[in-house]
Amino acid sequence: METEAWDDQKQAIWKVLPLHPRPQPLESMTSYITRLAEANGLQSLNELGALAGGMRLYNLKRSPDYPAPLYSGLVQITGHPEERWLDMTFFHLVQHFGCAMNPNSCHNFLAGSLAPSLRYCPICLAEHAPASYSLLWRFLVLPGCIEHGVRFLDQCGHCRSPLPLLRCLPQLTRCPTCQGDLRTCEPSRLSDDDVEPTDRYTNDLKMLLTPSPRPLEKEQAKLIGRRFQLLRQRRDLWIPEVAHLLARDRSVVRDIDYVSRFRQANLGDYLQYAAVLGYSLCEIFDEQSLGDLVAPPSEEQLLDQVKAAIRQLKARGKPILPGNIGDLLGMTGSRLKQYPRVKKLLTRCEKERRQEIFQVDLKREEELVKQVERTLKQLEARGEPIVLQHVCDMVDLSYSYMVMKYPRIRALFQEYQKNRSERGLSPRLDEEAKVQQVQTAINVLVSQGEPVTLRRIRQIVKKDFIRVSTRILYFIRVSIRIFRAYSQQKSLFQAQFGYALPLEPTQSPSIKRLHQMWP
Ligand SMILES: [Zn+2]
Ligand SMILES: [Zn+2]
Repeated sequence: METEAWDDQKQAIWKVLPLHPRPQPLESMTSYITRLAEANGLQSLNELGALAGGMRLYNLKRSPDYPAPLYSGLVQITGHPEERWLDMTFFHLVQHFGCAMNPNSCHNFLAGSLAPSLRYCPICLAEHAPASYSLLWRFLVLPGCIEHGVRFLDQCGHCRSPLPLLRCLPQLTRCPTCQGDLRTCEPSRLSDDDVEPTDRYTNDLKMLLTPSPRPLEKEQAKLIGRRFQLLRQRRDLWIPEVAHLLARDRSVVRDIDYVSRFRQANLGDYLQYAAVLGYSLCEIFDEQSLGDLVAPPSEEQLLDQVKAAIRQLKARGKPILPGNIGDLLGMTGSRLKQYPRVKKLLTRCEKERRQEIFQVDLKREEELVKQVERTLKQLEARGEPIVLQHVCDMVDLSYSYMVMKYPRIRALFQEYQKNRSERGLSPRLDEEAKVQQVQTAINVLVSQGEPVTLRRIRQIVKKDFIRVSTRILYFIRVSIRIFRAYSQQKSLFQAQFGYALPLEPTQSPSIKRLHQMWP
């Protein structure tokens, strides 16, 4: 056993490279590996890979500076623990946001935020010993180096060739194309407008790329989300407004605030969201504030938050519902109601809301009753068959909705239907039968030598439906006119010939004629 352990140790010592310099603060892994190989006089990075127990640098090329699960070979040949290797990657940044530590989610999270090729500040390379490339330089949100106030170069300043992040030949500060010294390239100055955001983002990224002093929460993403929510509410911004300002879908903002199962938000979204709120990420990731969020709020604090949310909803004319309040506070409505005082406040709001709705409904019903009565009258006056559904169509509501929602309308319809059946009123199909009745009454009057008048017809037919149908009224009027013409003829005949012809009961005008005569 002991011999084996000694052998392992001997082997381990034997494997350590003669020169294994300390990584510089925020130095990128690609930079350190190149520096390590160069310092030890290795001819290529593949040699380094071979020494590190056949480590394939292919992965490093594909995902440069991304956190990978194990660097055991590199740990052995440098004696630097694995943590130090992780420090040279985006590991801490990804962890700060509570993003899952797997290649896919890391790639999605960092998509669009990183430069695919080497960027550098030549003055940093020249001034700092030993020269190294910072992880910061990979972030496109930084236009340049705040320390020297210059823009990063993204190609060789001598031959303009783009520079790969990882080169087979380990040369840290030389251009692989022209062998020019990158430290002597001329950068341009940062513009005045760029200085402030560069400063802010440099500080933000420095914080994100270093380990958190506080142990991270199991639900770190949700904790950060609650912090964003809280600050969004403080700015009186709503999710759709933030989405509009970010020119992103609402689901992305919701993902940051509430953390969706399938994550959508990436680093760029978080950075932009913070900018919209007017906070730096250092302020958002402030230890004290995050710590306060971890502890559940006291009922008193929650009550204050609920009151603030109610004020916000009122100001926006939104309904004061537990769900809406919960949305603003990042809590479900039922969770809120677990606090007795909050529950009392919510119940009061709900009651007030119901009363308000009732008042609004009463007013609307009054308007509808008037509208329906007016419509019914118009239809009646025109003698048109009345179908209640058509009346509803005219006020643009369904019959069942009106009857269910408004008791007064229901009563109005019922009364109308009752009257109608009493009066024997039904649509045009019955008209023929009614005309027949009127015709019979007229014939009775004529055969009895009585004057044909509306009053007498009514007395015979006994039903007052005549009053309603304009068509039938028209028919009677025509009949009366014809009768009067006959009567006049009869008197003239009597005056001339001394005797009167009996007036025959007439079949005309028929209902067919009536329809032809109808204007
Ligand atoms: Zn610099
Ligand atoms: Zn060059």
